[in-house]
Amino acid sequence: MHIFRTNHTLQQHLQKQRAQGKIIGFVPTLGALHDGHMSLMQTALKQSDVVVCSIFINPTQFNQASDFQKYPRSLMADIELLIQNDVQILYYPIDSEIYPEGLDTTVDIDLGLLGKVMEGAHRPGHFEGVMQVVKRLLDIVDPDKLFMGQKDYQQFTIIRYLLEQFKMPTELIVCPIIREPNGLARSSRNERLSAEARTRAKVIFEILQWCKQHYKIEKIKELEEQAQNKLKAEGLIPEYFSIVDGDSLAPPDEDSKTIVACTAAWIEGVRLIDNIIL
Ligand code: AMP
Repeated sequence: MHIFRTNHTLQQHLQKQRAQGKIIGFVPTLGALHDGHMSLMQTALKQSDVVVCSIFINPTQFNQASDFQKYPRSLMADIELLIQNDVQILYYPIDSEIYPEGLDTTVDIDLGLLGKVMEGAHRPGHFEGVMQVVKRLLDIVDPDKLFMGQKDYQQFTIIRYLLEQFKMPTELIVCPIIREPNGLARSSRNERLSAEARTRAKVIFEILQWCKQHYKIEKIKELEEQAQNKLKAEGLIPEYFSIVDGDSLAPPDEDSKTIVACTAAWIEGVRLIDNIIL
């Protein structure tokens, strides 16, 4: 596997690949890689000739400095996993390559409702930071295909909008949520939970599935309320439980092509998110 730390060396290498007609796939991550990330890599490897994984713990998307500091870091294990999975390129940039002094990297697009609901309402500045880093990484890597997880539903919805707004030719491919055997969505944050909390947190997926079974029968507002109560009953602290149109993230109506239930809940001071398409 090639490891690059500067834009120039990465771009030189990719230019040669492109000249040979190779399709470049890109998987941006914050590191602390797990099965969820690896399923993205596997899909990327199937659908492209060269896969670039980036590991960059982007400070601008953390709305709490403590969350940034506590974010798990495991570079050596990550490199081993990437090698085992035959990923060809790791881009592990030094900070100044992403945010060079004097370069304005802020992304100034109005997300409207997409940025106001759910994560947007509870993590001020988060999506501005995500857009900033993803736009910057896309400008550097210039991939044919971008692979993201359904796990971060609002995030990929916003990146899809960003690609449209900037008329970027990169194709977005959304990959399914990978779960632990008990149903809990895989997340780097799960590492911070005690074994007991990790077991209790499976209730998040159970409630999402319950919601899928009941959403045609019960009113949406009631479902959202009951789901939050069920989370509380298991000792979790729900931040939101929202059933929304899968494209606009507005309340669903009869024209909604996709309806999705999304939730964020705290347990042992760790914030977990998950969703299910209904
Ligand atoms: P992160 O490192 O948390 O920023 O995640 C990098 C990418 O992996 C994002 O596109 C996530 O949506 C995706 N991802 C994270 N966890 C999972 C999971 N459990 N299943 C599928 N994709 C995931």
